[in-house]
Amino acid sequence: MAQSFFEVVTDAIREFTEHGFDSVERLTFWTDRIRRAAVDSLTPSHVLEETLNKSLQGIYKQLIDDGQIVKAHVGISRYTIDRLKPKLRTELDRRMMVSRNLIKLNREQMIEKTTQRFAGWASSVPAGGSRVVETKDVKDNIRKALTSLPFEERRCIIDQSHKFVSSLNEIVAVDGGAIAGKWHSQFRRRGYQYRVDHKERDDKVYAIRGNWALEKGLMKAGPAGYSDEITKPGEEVFCSCSYSWIYNIRDLPPEMLTRKGEEALAEVRAKIKAMQ
Ligand SMILES: [Zn+2]
Repeated sequence: MAQSFFEVVTDAIREFTEHGFDSVERLTFWTDRIRRAAVDSLTPSHVLEETLNKSLQGIYKQLIDDGQIVKAHVGISRYTIDRLKPKLRTELDRRMMVSRNLIKLNREQMIEKTTQRFAGWASSVPAGGSRVVETKDVKDNIRKALTSLPFEERRCIIDQSHKFVSSLNEIVAVDGGAIAGKWHSQFRRRGYQYRVDHKERDDKVYAIRGNWALEKGLMKAGPAGYSDEITKPGEEVFCSCSYSWIYNIRDLPPEMLTRKGEEALAEVRAKIKAMQ
């Protein structure tokens, strides 16, 4: 059986404690071994990619194929979602590619960091070795980057998934003619490290700039302003906030209606009453 990463690091440290940095060959030999052992100790890339793809494809199926996305878009039809499918599908492909690259880069960086730390330490031990090495500290320092990686990779998948949900929603909102978005923060969720400024956005309604109702003079931005003046849900790392989208002026808070908007609403209501 191949040696574990920890065993290889232990052997490497023992060797340098004994001989010190006396040749570049020795250093290269051990750096290579540590790199290989590090790669072997991680979840294989293709397994990680599968997890990632499954997560993103699962979201796509649930929200788009099964149509669950309409829940956050009251007033939009399944037909609109179907019409947007090519665009949404492209977003899925794009997100899978971006996430894959992110994970790959992160891994390379962590492995590089690990071998660099080892090489940094090993090349500082005088030729002939040293008796005063605190090997535990050296080991801990070399292992640090690598042991945190699985945790970070899981977090990365969660974060990418949330960003994906957010961008699918935005495509539907913008192409479907949403006029505003109501912010939802997850600050009540136990253990969630919410951002204070995002908690303050909770339940506030942000107008979408340039929307049809603004252009017709039926509405105006409310005290919260426009959605493009703040970050998007999921844009900041590990943000789990979301919007529910508003498509009709009757669903806006009253302070976002103009006089013309109020009149238009009153007219519609009168018509409905007359029909009853
Ligand atoms: Zn947030």
